[in-house]
Amino acid sequence: MTVAARTADLTGGRPVVPSRGVLRPLGLSEVRITGGFWAQRQETNSRATLDHGREWMDKLGWTGNFTAEAGRGSAERRGREFSDSEVYKLIEAMSWETGRQADPARDAEIAELTAMIASAQAADGYLHTAFGRPGQRARYGDLAWGHELYCAGHLLQASVARARTSGDDALLNVARRVADHVCDEFGPSGRDAVCGHPEIEPGLVELFRATGEQRYLDQAALFVARRGRRTLPRHEFGWSYFSDDIAVREAKVLRGHAVRALYLAAGVVDLAVETGDDELLETVAAQFDRTLARRTYLTGGMGSRHLDEAFSDDFVLPADRAYSETCAGIAAIMVAWRLMLATGREHYADVIERILYNVVATAIGDDGRSFFYAHTLHQRSLTAVLPGDVEQLGFGGGPRAPWFEVSCCLANTARMLASLSTYVASVDDDGLRVHQYADADIDTALADGRRVGLRMRTGYPDEGTVGIEVTAAEPGPWTLALRLPSWAAGATVTVNGEPQQATGDRVVLRRDFAVGDRIVLALPMRPRFTRPDPRIDAVRGCVAVEQGPIVLCAESAGGALDLDSLRVDAGTDPAADGGVTVRGVAEELPERPWPYADAGPVGRRTTLDVPLVPYHRWARGGPSTMRVWLPTT
Ligand SMILES: [Zn+2]
Repeated sequence: MTVAARTADLTGGRPVVPSRGVLRPLGLSEVRITGGFWAQRQETNSRATLDHGREWMDKLGWTGNFTAEAGRGSAERRGREFSDSEVYKLIEAMSWETGRQADPARDAEIAELTAMIASAQAADGYLHTAFGRPGQRARYGDLAWGHELYCAGHLLQASVARARTSGDDALLNVARRVADHVCDEFGPSGRDAVCGHPEIEPGLVELFRATGEQRYLDQAALFVARRGRRTLPRHEFGWSYFSDDIAVREAKVLRGHAVRALYLAAGVVDLAVETGDDELLETVAAQFDRTLARRTYLTGGMGSRHLDEAFSDDFVLPADRAYSETCAGIAAIMVAWRLMLATGREHYADVIERILYNVVATAIGDDGRSFFYAHTLHQRSLTAVLPGDVEQLGFGGGPRAPWFEVSCCLANTARMLASLSTYVASVDDDGLRVHQYADADIDTALADGRRVGLRMRTGYPDEGTVGIEVTAAEPGPWTLALRLPSWAAGATVTVNGEPQQATGDRVVLRRDFAVGDRIVLALPMRPRFTRPDPRIDAVRGCVAVEQGPIVLCAESAGGALDLDSLRVDAGTDPAADGGVTVRGVAEELPERPWPYADAGPVGRRTTLDVPLVPYHRWARGGPSTMRVWLPTT
């Protein structure tokens, strides 16, 4: 049996397979999402987004860069330095998708792409289409911006996804040769350097987990130890942009380019888990927790500086400058998931849920063929209508577009959606934990090997009732734990109609479950006002409205209502009769030659009920303006 086949048998399609930790993740074969909010998005991903990504990557030459003819010289090479990584992420997404539901045509497509990629690999294992060939820049001549190791990291992740979902080791063999080359080149006696964009670190650890090759783990450890010594060239954004300003073990918070910092953090958690370095694990957990406490938007989005796509200082979270890149959201889920598996701390599942419903669900258009790169929380001017066949050169803001010159976010979202069921539940020493609520069927084994099955059905997040039926159980007690979201005070739970205690961050039900037992969790879904920490000056004096895990917003189709003239009465609870509204006042704001005076402008006031919609729905019905944070009367 090949390594890949053995790996696939062992893991059953899991994106992250730590060798130790409080929780054991479940695979695509153990949890299926069967209906509802996320099934619909998985279907769109399967039916439209994967093909959309392929069509654009073919059209723009990103796939063609791998073919032998294009590989002979730089003249034909197209796209930015990191375009190889988009092909790899798309293959990763396709791999999770074929693990979710068998698809021979997609398997054939993955095989075709794999052969194309293999044809571009140099004899010594090096693989990147923008460097090292006649007429191109030298290999590793631009570590700050070249993205060579970044692309390699995504290839490693894609190859592991393919092996874990199919047993096919063709791409894994390409990845092993790349990883061997990286170890030769950057090992203890090799180049003393790091890549400007972290990503090789989690890739190497996962390849170690899939193959057992210790060398890959050691190389990841070297890259982490080398980060923070300012070996990358000086740059106007500063070394923090590359997380190269402070040693990983010394840093207190995530900083600099958000996606870079978060991918690095994900790799550091992986490394700490595999090396048994609990001090390092707690260090990165503290960095992430502090980032959540001071540098994260209400949506779970991260990054408030457009200039360098970066975290800003503590509490600098302006709604109208929210960068909140889709990829930063997905990378934050990667970090939160790894930390939760390692520590069992349930609050990380709250973070994952917040990002899923308010960043991931917002990113992709209803047709699966357009997407947000950045996620503003306040759109002052009408969004534009973009043509469906034109690549956008700017990528930092604006409406959902079919494609951007930098299109990292589409394939990233696709791989998250295709693998989403693996984030629903996990197994610990006592039993099974449910982290996310969705229509899902779970069939797995407890830590002691006993089989357990659950059928979860719910209208969540439109409704707060979650019904769970035990579909398989063996004799003897075990614990079923259900996450209680931080907003869910007053939640109730029953087992076969008997009320149970529901406090803390999860309901813990320990009993000798039998097939047919029925658990009902009722989460309070009243819309509620949320207030910002007063140190977030940009939204001081404002409120937002949330309902369950959903952040709501005021949206004005066609800009008919000037949302910036609105103030809401936070003393009157939001109403929820067939749609959420808040009581408010619209005040006409007269034009003035100078926007500062000893008193504010006075205009005609109109009292109104302001309808709110889920933030993830905004800008789907044509040009609109929008705001999440609403000033109060
Ligand atoms: Zn992105």
